[in-house]
Amino acid sequence: MASDPDTASTVTTTATGGPRLRFAPSPTGSFHVGGARTALYNWALAHSMGGTFVLRIEDTDEVRNHPQWTAGIIDALAWIGIGADDPVFEGPYFQSENAQAHLDAAADLYARGLAYYCDLTTEQIQARAADSGRPGYDGYSRDRGLGPGPGHVLRFRVPDGTTVVEDLVRGRVEFDNATIEDFVLVRGNGTPVFLLANVVDDLSMRIDHVIRAEEHLPNTPKQQMLFEALGAPVPVWAHVPVLVNEQRKKLSKRRDKVALEQYRDEGYLPEAMVNYLMTLGWAPSGDTEIVAWDRIVDEFRLQDVTHSPAFFDIRKLEAFNGDYIRMLSVDEFIDRCRGWIPGDWDAERFVVMAPLVQTRVATLAEVAPMVEFLFVDDPVRDERSWTKAMGPEWAAPLLDESIAAYETAEWTADALKGALEAVGETHGLKLGKAQAPVRVAVSGRSVGPPLFESLEVLGRDETLRRMRGARADVTTG
Ligand code: GLU
Repeated sequence: MASDPDTASTVTTTATGGPRLRFAPSPTGSFHVGGARTALYNWALAHSMGGTFVLRIEDTDEVRNHPQWTAGIIDALAWIGIGADDPVFEGPYFQSENAQAHLDAAADLYARGLAYYCDLTTEQIQARAADSGRPGYDGYSRDRGLGPGPGHVLRFRVPDGTTVVEDLVRGRVEFDNATIEDFVLVRGNGTPVFLLANVVDDLSMRIDHVIRAEEHLPNTPKQQMLFEALGAPVPVWAHVPVLVNEQRKKLSKRRDKVALEQYRDEGYLPEAMVNYLMTLGWAPSGDTEIVAWDRIVDEFRLQDVTHSPAFFDIRKLEAFNGDYIRMLSVDEFIDRCRGWIPGDWDAERFVVMAPLVQTRVATLAEVAPMVEFLFVDDPVRDERSWTKAMGPEWAAPLLDESIAAYETAEWTADALKGALEAVGETHGLKLGKAQAPVRVAVSGRSVGPPLFESLEVLGRDETLRRMRGARADVTTG
């Protein structure tokens, strides 16, 4: 196949209004972030061009499909804002409900001599290929005049010539038909194959733009031939680049964290996820990739989508998410934290801590562990933090002296800071070092929200109780 990006056409609107786009997932597992990106590209165009976004669940693979995955896809799409409450949305339709139309199309192709039956077994096909030295099916039954029968597959009669796929992302891609075998349309057990079902559904749903993952490009010449054989206009094609991991390997369920649901369940914000997914293979104008959905809709063009693989960089996504968290107002942040913090935590105390936490977390899941020590009586001690903070010989005297200072200090963050600074100085320590034993004593951890604000919230009695408890456990002093 040969590709020429310069000759790509552009998305066109139809006489009936905007384009009819579709997203056609197979419910065979959790919802892949690559699928979410494809869905969003379709969604953005449906919005910018006054088009329609059809959701079609391709559920004809009975062995691999499961209704729970369908529900998961619909939920996950709703989480990123794609759902029936938007007027551009149509569906969901189910491929399995269109089975008769798939068989009717097959019968039509057979009746017109564009498809034929074949009774060769896989072993016989392989033996013939081995004899001739040419891989694949050789068209043996083309002129044998076989009719339907048990175990007979229906094959498409691939015409001679070249199939030219005009792809909005990849340009003009040429396929020599001689390299495409007479492919199966209906299996020996009478069930239509995916290729046929997919084309017939696109046709009956009047889809005129097919935007999907690059892995389907090899299917495209076959599908284009089917559109032509069925007397239907060929849709505008756009194959969007694969997502790869750090090692530049295609994202895989086994190796990588690919389920959109997992990101939702780890406290990513949907708007951050949407924005990040859109930038995989495309960039908005200007010097930041962080842009609101409305601007994405205004600016997104398939012609600007790159055809090289896009790196799904979890660290970058995390940074996006952190930025989105910081863009929330404090009230919104508190609101979003609901569901992420235990319901029995003191709400007023959380309101005080929220702005301090908001600047420090990358996901909502990080919020609770960071401030938990302010809401429970005995925070769990992290052993490594403890050993590191309490290890130096100055730790015990520093704790003793800070306890003494905190017994009488004014209980404000500034005064508490000043008092510890003074204690640290007598040991030749900068504040950063001097505060480590105090932080671990009260929180059990070496990282967390600003210490002195936290102590102010915790109160004198509780702070001193924890510091004394920790001091008693320090054995080096
Ligand atoms: N059902 C196919 C998939 O999930 C999509 C086919 C298409 O978009 O044409 O990969």
